[in-house]
Amino acid sequence: MIRKAAIIVIVLALVILLTAAAPKVWITDLRPRLPLHPDRDYDRRTLDQIQQVIIHHTAAPASQTIEAIAHYHTGPNHICDNGCPGIAYHFMIDREAKVYQVNDLETISFHASGQNTVSVGVCLIGNYDELEPTPQQLTAVVRVIRYLNRKLGRRLAIAGHRDYANKSCPGWNVDIDSIRAKV
Ligand SMILES: [Zn+2]
Repeated sequence: MIRKAAIIVIVLALVILLTAAAPKVWITDLRPRLPLHPDRDYDRRTLDQIQQVIIHHTAAPASQTIEAIAHYHTGPNHICDNGCPGIAYHFMIDREAKVYQVNDLETISFHASGQNTVSVGVCLIGNYDELEPTPQQLTAVVRVIRYLNRKLGRRLAIAGHRDYANKSCPGWNVDIDSIRAKV
């Protein structure tokens, strides 16, 4: 009887340990579900080429779906006259702090002219010249950058799109320094 109880305890302990060790799913993978350009493909890179994270906003209503954004990017638009190969970013974060992966890290997408080869694009859904980002949303940005640093084995630089372009992106209400301080 004692031996049986001991086995049950050991099995339970193993189950608890394995459950705790299993990676938590907190990034929703939208890559297989988003529209792509019928003829164009983004160039690819190796992970060791990545040096920085660039933060963006959609500058559009927070209610806009990621599918709608991908449709816009793959049709004729302000970035690509004939449509971009796919959605422009790598990660999207909504106001409820849900995180979505929308491109492979190896994909050189078009989110910050001149910086695309070395950058990962993380985009807040909404217009942050008008809205304040939610605290949970900012925590999610920090979490994504920490996840990338762990995955790539080094600390990536952190910039706002406005550091490279004459625009407010990711919105003047997003403080890049405070994100840097928290990573
Ligand atoms: Zn931007």
